[in-house]
Amino acid sequence: MKAIKYIMAVLLPITMSSCGNDWLNLEPQTSEQTDKVINILSDCDFALNGVYSTMQNAYAYSGRLVYYGDALGDDMQAYSATKRTGSYYLMEFTKDNAPTSFWSYPNNLIASCNMILEKIDNIPTNDNELRDFYKGQALALRALFLFDLTKFYGYPYKKDNGASLGVPVTRKMLQKEDKPERNTVAECYKAIIEDLTEAVGLMDNDYGRKFTKGHINRWAAMSLLSRVYLYHGDDALALNMAEEAIKGAEDTGYRLWTNKEYPTAWGADASRLNPGEVLFEIVNTTDDSPGKESLGRLHDPSGYKDICLTSSFYVLLNEDPYDVRLKLLVFSSKRAFVNKYQPQDGEIAQDANIPLIRLSETYLNAAEAAFKTNDKKAAAKYLNAIVSRANPDKSVDENDITLDRIMTERRKELVGEGHRMFDALRDGGSVDRKNASKTPKEISSTKHLTELVSDRMNYDWNFFRCVLPIPKAEIDANGNIKQNPSY
Ligand code: CA
Repeated sequence: MKAIKYIMAVLLPITMSSCGNDWLNLEPQTSEQTDKVINILSDCDFALNGVYSTMQNAYAYSGRLVYYGDALGDDMQAYSATKRTGSYYLMEFTKDNAPTSFWSYPNNLIASCNMILEKIDNIPTNDNELRDFYKGQALALRALFLFDLTKFYGYPYKKDNGASLGVPVTRKMLQKEDKPERNTVAECYKAIIEDLTEAVGLMDNDYGRKFTKGHINRWAAMSLLSRVYLYHGDDALALNMAEEAIKGAEDTGYRLWTNKEYPTAWGADASRLNPGEVLFEIVNTTDDSPGKESLGRLHDPSGYKDICLTSSFYVLLNEDPYDVRLKLLVFSSKRAFVNKYQPQDGEIAQDANIPLIRLSETYLNAAEAAFKTNDKKAAAKYLNAIVSRANPDKSVDENDITLDRIMTERRKELVGEGHRMFDALRDGGSVDRKNASKTPKEISSTKHLTELVSDRMNYDWNFFRCVLPIPKAEIDANGNIKQNPSY
């Protein structure tokens, strides 16, 4: 218990400092302090649980860090300018009012992972596989946080082969006097890929392969790596990684939800016996709730009613009126809301779990990577797993398959899960915000807000607002941090 108390004392200042604080101003952890808290293997488990617990915050992965990619995209929009997603949808941040949580949460979470990783190799144990599993999780999570930071603050890799600035890559605990500079986007990707590759290797054992509730495992890490490879233009590697992830996950008992299950499977409480298709999720419960700012409540028309579908996306999804994904929509105030964040049995909306990595995405990653490596047969196979699940009467012939068809399916499948803006821009495409030419009556009040400035209606990776400004507190605290251009 003593160790636990020490860990809480050390971890809390790092992980619980939420908005308002810049991460470098936090009391830095010294190696002497860490020596007191991470000594035996169970301390690593406890520290990892601290990371998962912090991820659960509504300002982190139960909310903002996820809805960002949807609010800035063209498939969803803020209900009104004063909603929580309003400033994101309107892309109205300046260097003086930049949100701090996008910077502080992932950086603080990385600091916690670094603390574990600095110690774990030297902890004596007779269960090396368990140690590898803990280390693999810390590495995979550190990669996830750095990937998200790189997406929030750095331009898409393919814009300039990663020459522009990303974020500082920190691999050890920072000391008070450390004032790191931003690394390039290319250097960030190198670190992300290294961490994930090592994590995937370390989790190639019984601990890493199996389902562990709320924990990232080998198949989730592989799926994330396949996504990272696509962003980075490593298409052959992405295909190989996605294929291995699909095979391994399915051998472990994961499987795509069926057409019949799809409308309600989101609320299932996944277990080792029935893991379903969510490879990594944030687990929220009534007793351990992210509170009212969480995604479940933001998407809920009976909750905060914060973010809804755009009319153009609604029309796109309706091009097949028998698409099962239409059954996920809830209509209210002549708008369509996405009901993916379904609470588990006995819970209210705000306690819904948050799927972060789904097997459906792994299939779509495989389809995209296969197409890009000229394997249309494999591309059709993986795409059709998603197309025919949405409507068993539909499929795409390998001779007719196009990249555009695959990316459109990706939009339809992943809407509301934080992908859209990044997917639209990462290969040089654009976010195209427009109202449907003819708005169906069930969503007749859905229009892009009049507050949306015209330069944000249609933009690509050249628009300076496609990356966030670095928070003012960070710039003030660390003179080595350069602001993003044009802010
Ligand atoms: Ca829950």
